[in-house]
Parts: sequence; C-alpha cells; structure tokens
Amino acid sequence: ERIISADTIPDDDTLERSIRPQRLADYVGQPVAREQMEIFISAARARGEALDHVLIFGPPGLGKTTLSHIIAQELGVNMRQTSGPVLERPGDLAALLTNLDPHDVLFVDEIHRLSPVVEEVLYPALEDFQLDIMIGEGPAARSIKLDLPPFTLVGATTRAGLLTSPLRDRFGIVQRLEFYNTEDLAYIVRRSARILGAELDEDGAMEIARRARGTPRIANRLLRRVRDYAQIKADGIISAPVADNALNLLDVDAHGFDAQDRRLLLAVMEKFDGGPVGLDSLAAALGEERGTIEDVIEPYLIQQGFLMRTPRGRMATSNAYRHFGLRVPSALEA
Ligand code: ADP
Repeated sequence: ERIISADTIPDDDTLERSIRPQRLADYVGQPVAREQMEIFISAARARGEALDHVLIFGPPGLGKTTLSHIIAQELGVNMRQTSGPVLERPGDLAALLTNLDPHDVLFVDEIHRLSPVVEEVLYPALEDFQLDIMIGEGPAARSIKLDLPPFTLVGATTRAGLLTSPLRDRFGIVQRLEFYNTEDLAYIVRRSARILGAELDEDGAMEIARRARGTPRIANRLLRRVRDYAQIKADGIISAPVADNALNLLDVDAHGFDAQDRRLLLAVMEKFDGGPVGLDSLAAALGEERGTIEDVIEPYLIQQGFLMRTPRGRMATSNAYRHFGLRVPSALEA
C-alpha cells in the first residue's frame, strides 16, 4: 500500500467526504479554473441554461471530483456520478441520462475509458440532447430516439491526450488542474485539521504541505497519519518536528518523494545511465504499468525538475543526482 498514493482508499472515504470543500470559495488554489468557472456558472445561471460541458484534466487527487461537486452545488442542481469503465453498454448510459433533471450535472470519471459504443451514443446526447439507441436484438431490434433534458457533462481524466478527438471537441469548457503550491496545501491542511479536530501549529502544517507531492488528497492523508503519530508518540500537537518524525517513519522524504518515486529516479540514474530511457524499458525495469508511470508517478517528478521528458525518453536532471547525493555527470553540469 502506497501511503502517498493519490488513489482513493475506501476506509478514508467518509473522512474525505467530510473535508471536501462544498463551494467555489473554499476551493483553494487553481486560480484560473476557479475564476473561469465562477464566470461561466454565473452566466449559465443568469440565462437559465444548462452549463456547457466541462472537461477537467490533471493527475489523481488534484480536485477533479471535488470541482465537479462544486459546479453542481453552485448551479443549484443535482450531480450524478459514474465512471468510464462502469458504463459498459449504451443502455447503462441511457438509464443515467434519462433520469436526469433539467440542467443536472453528470460526472463521468476516467472518461477516457468509455467504450467506443458508449461514446457513439454520447455524441448526439452532448450535442443535441438526443438519445439514439437500439433496443432488443435480432429481427425484433429497433432504434428509438429520445429527447433528453439539457444537462451538463463533467468529464474527468488524468490526461486530455487520452481522449478521442471527437469527444474532446464536444467540451465547451476545458480546465487543466495544476499541482498546488505549499501555501495552498498548508491552507488545506489547516482547514482539514480544524474539521478533524486535530491540533496543529503553523510549522507543522507547512511541513506536511511541503511533503504532499503538490496534491490535496495526499496532504489530507498525511495529516491523518501524522495525527495518529502525534497522539501516540507526542503530546497530540502536530508541530514541525512531530510531522517530520512521522513522515520519515512513513518513508516520505524531505521532497515528499516516497519509495516508488525514489525507485524510478534511481532506476533512470543507475540502470540507464541517467537516460534517455524509453517508457517501456522503464516500466519493465520497475515492474510498473506504463500508465501508472505516466499518469501517477512522473508528472510530479517532472514538475519539480527531477525528471525530463525528451523525444528520446526520460532523463534524470542534476537535481535528481543531488537529491541522492550522487555525483552529477559532467554532461548535466550547467
Ligand atoms: P481527483 O478527483 O482529482 O482525484 P478529488 O476531487 O477526489 O481528486 O480530491 C481529493 C481530495 O482533496 C478531496 O476529498 C478534497 O478534500 C481535497 N481537495 C481537492 N481539491 C481541493 C481544493 N482545491 N481545495 C481544498 N481541498 C481540495
């Protein structure tokens, strides 16, 4: 189990729900997305129309689901939630769409994993609010057309490039979520600590924030584990030293890298002479899936300047060598 994983862990779900912001005003960071959504939502409301379809992309745990909930909340409508792989047949999608009230939000997580047949049915639904499906099989099969209430599709994906272009073209609003800076994460940690009733001082919040991989979900998860540590090993108050000890115990290093991050960087430097190394070779060396490397591990290492994506493959940067106390190859010295 990867403590720093940005995936949801079922046990954490209820807690996560309690600390998930409900309004745009509580949605920390992401100034571009927040400002744009505020305008688009107000405009749609004022016109009494459904909001245009929204595509949100970015690495796991950055707030795609949260933003979708907030969009529905701010529009004053209901949100239905599903995901690409769950919608196996056109009928699954039809059942959802025909149950929407006008202007409702349909949130589809992992929208890049929709099956092609379901995607086909989605196009006219998005464009003309029409459903065109076949029911029955063989000679009895017939096609029926249904009018749908105007609705807003909010699609989430880890990378916009994973979508087919006809699907991507049907979103009028596209938001790319960025990693959060330390101040924003510290704010999120303080807010969550208040909700959880955990005592934490300013430096404790900053320490957790610095080591949260730029990701709110990870910040909240680290907070919960550090709180356990503070309760058992200290006086219950999360100070910087307490947070530091707890995070070291969790194998989260000073940069917020965990064992998996370190393994990837070390593999590039030690097994592949610093790169460039192709994604497939790297995946094989680590025993990881390509997709996990590309969507979950790499983005933060690249954003932090420890790894570079070049046309010939991945390369470790001088920062990476320094982080591990290794000699920087002369080719990388500035
Ligand atoms: P994603 O759908 O991108 O994987 P989520 O929306 O589930 O991520 O966000 C994970 C958790 O992080 C949420 O439960 C929420 O508590 C927190 N979170 C995400 N974005 C923000 C934000 N902008 N401000 C405050 N908390 C956030």
